[in-house]
Amino acid sequence: MEAKPDTAMSRSQDPEKKALLEVFELKTWFSSSSGMFARQKQHIRAVDGVSFRIRQNETLGLVGESGCGKTTLGRTLLGLETATSGHVIFKDRPLLSLSRKEMDQMRRHLQVVFQDPLSSLNPRMNVINIVTEGLVRFGMLKGSRQEHARRLLAEVGMDEAMIYRFPHEFSGGQRQRINIARAVSLRPDLIICDEAVSALDVSIQAQVINLLLTLQEQHFLSYLFISHDLSVVSNIADRVAVMYLGQIVETGSTAEVIREPLHPYTRMLIAALPVAGKKKVDSSGVKGETPLYTARPEGCRFNPRCRQAMDVCRRTAPDEIRQNSRSVRCHLYS
Ligand code: SF4
Repeated sequence: MEAKPDTAMSRSQDPEKKALLEVFELKTWFSSSSGMFARQKQHIRAVDGVSFRIRQNETLGLVGESGCGKTTLGRTLLGLETATSGHVIFKDRPLLSLSRKEMDQMRRHLQVVFQDPLSSLNPRMNVINIVTEGLVRFGMLKGSRQEHARRLLAEVGMDEAMIYRFPHEFSGGQRQRINIARAVSLRPDLIICDEAVSALDVSIQAQVINLLLTLQEQHFLSYLFISHDLSVVSNIADRVAVMYLGQIVETGSTAEVIREPLHPYTRMLIAALPVAGKKKVDSSGVKGETPLYTARPEGCRFNPRCRQAMDVCRRTAPDEIRQNSRSVRCHLYS
């Protein structure tokens, strides 16, 4: 598996690049009732003390198995879930403290592309209205809607004549291009791509990733690219954050993490990736599935699945250890 080339990696590590988004100890917990007569309240710690930053014109890949909390994290940043605690600074503004009206205005700068291209599009709206809706709402429409729609379709590699069609008339890949056209129409600073290519065929995935890379260069975009698939993330992300049960367990440049994964969970994800011409072998020896949030293990959350688990791992949760551009949350490095 190859990671995104070094040109992009050095761009991400450029200290001159300003932080666009900074997340500090973000927690998003939900309450659930369980047990006899549903009297016992339990906290589902979907996001449990997450910190990271994204620089201007950088892509951070957020990777982890289904149910690790990565989608809840994205939804919290978008204001679709309420944070329990923590701080988020976006464009020098405290995102979690904004009023509803201020957050609405901020949406111009913070866009999203969801996994399911069809359900993300209003079936009763044609392409003209879909891709120019935001421009009208934010008073950014200069010229006719048709003109803007044609330009936006051309930007995402689609035939300009398609502006009068409706979502059901397109393939999955074309629908996702329309979603991307809508997202870039407002010239945002950051786009959260939540499993944005997961529903597409592999060949279409590659085309959409190339489109995202081209648009990033053209419009100086940053992405938070959320995916369960590390091989997809490695093709687009400058840096990677690996998430397990609500926490980030490893970060680093994509090339470093792929070449030398530190956390046993990251090693497991890499070992499970298919290799062309070879039978898939999970050489890490890590087994099992992500436990339920309500059954969070004591100590290190990964210890029931970790072959290298020690006594301390079952007693004490590891702190995050940082060195240069890497971080890892594991007692092996204490
Ligand atoms: Fe494995 Fe222990 Fe590291 Fe957790 S802290 S990943 S159990 S070695």
